[in-house]
Amino acid sequence: MRLIGEKIQESISKLAFMIIVFFLATATRGEWLLVIVYMFRDQLQELMGGQVGLVRPGGGGNNASAPSLSSQLESHHLRNVHWFVVMAVTTSFVMYYGMAYGWHYYYYVNRRHLAKEWKCQPDKFLTPENERHEILLGSMNMLIGSTASGIIACYIMNGGSSKMYYSISDRGSLYFTFSLVGFFVYNETMAYYLHRLFHKPWLYKKIHKMHHRYHQPTAWSAVAMHPLEFIMYQGYLAATPFLVPIHVFPFLFVLLYSYYYGLCDHSGIKMGAIWPWQPHSYFHDNHHKYFHVNFGFNTYFFDWFHDTLRKENREYGEDVFGGRGKQILKAD
Ligand SMILES: [Zn+2]
Ligand SMILES: [Zn+2]
Repeated sequence: MRLIGEKIQESISKLAFMIIVFFLATATRGEWLLVIVYMFRDQLQELMGGQVGLVRPGGGGNNASAPSLSSQLESHHLRNVHWFVVMAVTTSFVMYYGMAYGWHYYYYVNRRHLAKEWKCQPDKFLTPENERHEILLGSMNMLIGSTASGIIACYIMNGGSSKMYYSISDRGSLYFTFSLVGFFVYNETMAYYLHRLFHKPWLYKKIHKMHHRYHQPTAWSAVAMHPLEFIMYQGYLAATPFLVPIHVFPFLFVLLYSYYYGLCDHSGIKMGAIWPWQPHSYFHDNHHKYFHVNFGFNTYFFDWFHDTLRKENREYGEDVFGGRGKQILKAD
């Protein structure tokens, strides 16, 4: 009886943990606002009408020869954009800081002495200097990301054109399924090759090394990277609904899936996944520990295909480029 009680308690805390990470993930780049706009766009437009920023035909300033800023914004589907940006940025920061700190406190403060039980690298922790660095750099990227999300949400809310659609019957269930798998594969393909490109010596030293100063990553590290790199990762995802017809569900599912595991992978906490193709959190933690191996994020496939998986009998280090490591030569 007691055992069942403990199991239930364990399942509840696991579920609570997953929910917290999910919200943490959505907050990372202000996507919570996009979620709301995508899901409830019609209802919100009806509810808020002229107040929030729907484009009215012929609407705008009174002076035709010198259009006001608001009428210019309105003509670009960006009426009241400042409110969208303020909402996206504020909520993202409050949620992210609140939850990331809770997580940090639960493991890194309260259970620090039990690190062998929960930590991927139990004997090593980030230095306070690197902790401050990742929080500052991550915050700057979150500011960029949530501002961009606020602008995109405003654009869609104001009737700006995109190829996003909301009813499965518009293109049928076959297209829906194909786009779900296709978008997942596209995300992983772009992430793997872009990441591998950033591990070329010149780009690594100039740009990606900034992310690799965190040898023992924490949740904050997930968004702490060179802003150019951050914009590129966010850009190819955000551009998709403007280029290819995609239903709202596959778009959000893949986006949140990759953010969720991005946080788990950087948490430094041992975490498996329910999906058989999704690597354990060790996989990316090892990327930070051994540098030029394990470039994938949501599958092992590309690392297996290109022979860039970390192997036991190799020597790795920040100056061992190429993804294969030096062969360890055994003396006879
Ligand atoms: Zn890397
Ligand atoms: Zn990383």
